[in-house]
Amino acid sequence: MMHDVIVVGGSFAGLAAALQLARARRRVLVVDAGEPRNRFAAHSHGFLGHDGKSPAQIQSEALEQLLRYPTVTWRQGLAMGAARADDGFRVTLDDGCELGARRLILATGVRDELPALPGLAERWGQTVVHCPYCHGYELEGPLGVLASQPGSLHQAMLVPDWGPTTLFMQDLPALDEAESARLAMRGVRIERERVTELLGDAPHLEGVRLASGRTVPLHGLFVASRTVIASPLAEQLGCAFEEGPQGALIQVDSMNHTTIPGIFAAGDAAMHFSNATRAAASGVMAGVAAHRSLFMGLS
Ligand SMILES: Cc1cc2nc3c(=O)[nH]c(=O)nc-3n(C[C@H](O)[C@H](O)[C@H](O)COP(=O)(O)OP(=O)(O)OC[C@H]3O[C@@H](n4cnc5c(N)ncnc54)[C@H](O)[C@@H]3O)c2cc1C
Repeated sequence: MMHDVIVVGGSFAGLAAALQLARARRRVLVVDAGEPRNRFAAHSHGFLGHDGKSPAQIQSEALEQLLRYPTVTWRQGLAMGAARADDGFRVTLDDGCELGARRLILATGVRDELPALPGLAERWGQTVVHCPYCHGYELEGPLGVLASQPGSLHQAMLVPDWGPTTLFMQDLPALDEAESARLAMRGVRIERERVTELLGDAPHLEGVRLASGRTVPLHGLFVASRTVIASPLAEQLGCAFEEGPQGALIQVDSMNHTTIPGIFAAGDAAMHFSNATRAAASGVMAGVAAHRSLFMGLS
């Protein structure tokens, strides 16, 4: 069966896109591999009306509402390949099934690449986090920022509102005078000795060990990850990319149209400084834009 739109990725961005299309009575298929970026966190915060629910609960409630629309089809699986066809696009799933649609929405999210430090990965989403607005409120006590990229300085300026903060410089070049002064004004303590290990019974965090063996007590550590787009589909289809502060992003215009006619992208894969709300909002835009393009054309 030919669908109007296939949405690849069924989390905040993809479900929001599909909902707009379902409400326009369009045949939309959502394919999802079930690995949303925030799956490591027990609770999601800051998403209006759902603050404190688990990511899985938010997704299952949204999916349950979406599936009330009879023109929606949901497939659990991985889209392995996509290509242009005369009448639109073909998407091949990991079970070998080939699906067709006039438009594609890529809402595949990103994968976080974390610094390789013993004890860090197993605390990700719990006591090692990237976003103070998402998880800072729950982390009481001394906090750290593990510098991993220039954006870490921005993180260190923010975090003192959630607790007394130490910036661990790791690989970051020395601070200039203005940066030092700004961090001092925020009361940030600077630690130049390298962190070698995280301590405590994971996911609980008690502190970090430094290269000399000295330990620093901490209850939470903020890390700015590098991100990688979670799926090669955009590349296969020839979409253009741009470099964001944390990694490459699919290039889109203000209507979430990629550089390839008929392909839209939304969510973390197509925007920086994203969170659940912003991903869902961009999904709405992609869904509306894909719908309009079905009868307005692609110019
Ligand atoms: C640890 C952590 C905690 C977070 N906590 C919060 C929070 O509390 N509040 C908040 O607002 N934000 C939070 N965020 C950010 C939030 O998770 C993201 O902004 C949001 O999930 C992005 O939504 P998305 O739909 O773009 O991508 P995702 O939620 O990552 O979903 C992408 C989906 O696409 C699927 N997919 C990928 N490739 C394919 C393919 N080829 N075929 C089929 N399916 C595919 C994936 O399996 C996944 O299900 C957190 C992020 C992290 C890392």
